[in-house]
Amino acid sequence: MVAISTFSILLRRLFTPGTIVSLKTLYLNGMYLIPGQEIPLTFSNRITLQFITTIIEHDDSRTFGIRIGRFEDRFGTTAEIRSYSFKDDRSSITIKVQGRQRFTIIDDRNNEQGEYQPNVQILSELDMHDFFRPIIQSEYRLSKKSRSLLTPLLSNSIDQYDNQILMSRLKMILMKIFEYRLKNEEFSYPVDAIAFSYFVLMAIPFPDKIKTSLLKIDCVNLRLRLETSLLNENFKFVCGTCRQNLCDRNSFLVMSKLGTSGTFVNSNGIVHELYTFSKVENTRRVSLYSEDFSWFPNYGWIIINCRQCRTHLGWEFETHKPNIVPKKFWALTKNSISLLFQYDENCDESYVYKLLEQDLNVDINQW
Ligand SMILES: [Zn+2]
Repeated sequence: MVAISTFSILLRRLFTPGTIVSLKTLYLNGMYLIPGQEIPLTFSNRITLQFITTIIEHDDSRTFGIRIGRFEDRFGTTAEIRSYSFKDDRSSITIKVQGRQRFTIIDDRNNEQGEYQPNVQILSELDMHDFFRPIIQSEYRLSKKSRSLLTPLLSNSIDQYDNQILMSRLKMILMKIFEYRLKNEEFSYPVDAIAFSYFVLMAIPFPDKIKTSLLKIDCVNLRLRLETSLLNENFKFVCGTCRQNLCDRNSFLVMSKLGTSGTFVNSNGIVHELYTFSKVENTRRVSLYSEDFSWFPNYGWIIINCRQCRTHLGWEFETHKPNIVPKKFWALTKNSISLLFQYDENCDESYVYKLLEQDLNVDINQW
């Protein structure tokens, strides 16, 4: 039996936005940690084990940095250790971390122990809604009808700065994806606009470069606007290697509290970020059904590969127990799939900037 130690919430410490702090940081091969997201991580490498143990034993904030996205992005999220458990012989440690604050890396340096400890600048979360609030409120004093008669374009334009309106638009788009879970009251959307904008990033497997661009935006209003624009585009999910079609946007299924994306550590300590779907095509089963070490209680798994290029994509989960729905679903690893926008095959940052430009042009014309 492994004892799990949980830290008191009173010990939490947030850094003042804008300040530069010296922060012990890890790079976990392109992994993403979004503010608010909670993930388990297992380390058995001696150096990393020592790194984490020192933070648990000597750092009151129990916080370290995770460098996310591509190495050259020089960007990361602070990770607060919420709980930890050592394997009996202390040969590995499993920690549960929660993403807290975004940061940029100012300089690369190691501490006296040879650990990577760069100076990082903690980024602020800006809310343009506050800036535009007086205008929004005076607009709302007019009835809907007189608003449309007087300033039809201005009114639309102001809607774009209202986080609540943007959130309800996003919820309408996400409705199809989360319908099943919402009906069963197994899940609810975050109320806060900043948390909601990050929830969308957790729930949708945007291509990495787009995810990084959205994370680098300080203004929650702009992030919500771009997420709305991106999700209004037509997209589907394809094999990351050969681009064979796997499923459409309606096949999304939420199987964990924090969205369709869950992060799971297998018995070898390998982290898999998984997206779950109700239906997937063009795959082939390459193992027998097994219930050993299943990530989803009550479900057993079968390994699946891409039918065309044979790349490992993930697992088909099936339950043999009565009264459990769905009977079957698919979990694909983030690294094996890609989201393909119909109008842009490259899916890189330039796509976000193009949308941003369109967004701003519309504004400028309307104002
Ligand atoms: Zn393939």
